[in-house]
Amino acid sequence: MYTDTEGIVLKNVKLPGGRKILVIFSLKYGKISAGTNISEKGRSKSTLALRPFVHSRFEIYKNRDSYNVNSAEVKKSFYKIGEDVDKYMYASYILEFTDKILPDNERAPQMFDLLVDYLEALEQRNGKYATLALAYQFKALKSMGLAPEVKQCVSCGSQERDFFVVSEGGTVCRNCLNKLQGNVNESLIFSTNFGIIEVISYILANPLKKLEKLALNEQTQKHLKNIMQSYLAYHLDIKELKSESFLIE
Ligand SMILES: [Zn+2]
Repeated sequence: MYTDTEGIVLKNVKLPGGRKILVIFSLKYGKISAGTNISEKGRSKSTLALRPFVHSRFEIYKNRDSYNVNSAEVKKSFYKIGEDVDKYMYASYILEFTDKILPDNERAPQMFDLLVDYLEALEQRNGKYATLALAYQFKALKSMGLAPEVKQCVSCGSQERDFFVVSEGGTVCRNCLNKLQGNVNESLIFSTNFGIIEVISYILANPLKKLEKLALNEQTQKHLKNIMQSYLAYHLDIKELKSESFLIE
């Protein structure tokens, strides 16, 4: 059947013979893989819509779980991202991250809006791109029901939150950590220094659009990034992403 959907291309894989496979985060069908014969050369309406960092509308032929993109058009292009190398790298990193955490063929409209908001915020932002990327990652985890618990100790409910223990999924008080010790790998235990509880709570409670003024200092930024990397590796088996090594903080 013929159908259409808004979407953002996360990845494209070229096949011999000019055909390619697009991994599209679509609003209607979630993350899908779709074949297409649309050429990437030239400046046709469809070609422009397949570029990275473009919110597009796709005309699709759908046959059970297989998809073919017949044509596409730009809904909104975040073209300024492509004009700045740091923005480009951070946008690439977030597309790769989003591709990794999204399941196939499952609608995720909240995540979709979040990604559009991220591209919009990144395009307009002037520096501190790492803060925005971290905020996106925490909010993406939340929209998938995987956000860490930071309101209380995950074991006893105490308001004392001295540690962030990745394997426990959030903050833990000193008492409970003592009980756990021996059963938890040291590398999964982080202090809650540098105001990270407040920062995580603030990020989770506010829409991305409201975080445009959020700029973390270097220490907090680094500490949170370590926690995020550990959390992603432990809970989602996401190790270092290809585009990660190019990021400048
Ligand atoms: Zn406790």
